[in-house]
Amino acid sequence: MKERTLAILKPDCIEAKVTGKVIDEILAAGFDIIAMKMVKMDAKTAGEFYRVHKDKPFYRDLVAFMSSGRCIPMVLEKENAVEDFRKLIGATDPAEAEEGTIRKKYATSKQNNIVHGSDSPENARLEISFFFSEAELVQNG
Ligand code: ADP
Ligand code: MG
Repeated sequence: MKERTLAILKPDCIEAKVTGKVIDEILAAGFDIIAMKMVKMDAKTAGEFYRVHKDKPFYRDLVAFMSSGRCIPMVLEKENAVEDFRKLIGATDPAEAEEGTIRKKYATSKQNNIVHGSDSPENARLEISFFFSEAELVQNG
């Protein structure tokens, strides 16, 4: 069964001009891009997206980072998309990420780690609907 996950190319990805390289890796790994847009989140929106982390010590900086520049949210589709995408991006901290993963190759710190990936199918559904309307998904389905 095909599954969908939400990826976000974070502001550091766009700043470093590696969006093309990262998208190539995503496509080469077998994901289809179902929907994609460019957004500049304000702090309120970034804070809302990451609200599960609101009590963590890194939350303030994370919100500032995610609202510091443009992001590219995209809906990816593939068999086992959620788990496979987490494998493709690697551990949160690039220092701990496996060789060959996107974060290992491009991330510069635990915060500035290039890309977001949903961590469960339920969160994928919630996160997809955070950025994309039903109409945008149906029309691209
Ligand atoms: P992941 O993105 O791998 O699912 P988390 O959900 O734990 O990681 O954290 C969300 C984001 O918050 C991370 O991708 C990273 O940008 C940032 N972050 C997480 N932990 C830290 C930390 N200890 N220090 C700084 N930033 C962090
Ligand atoms: Mg997470």
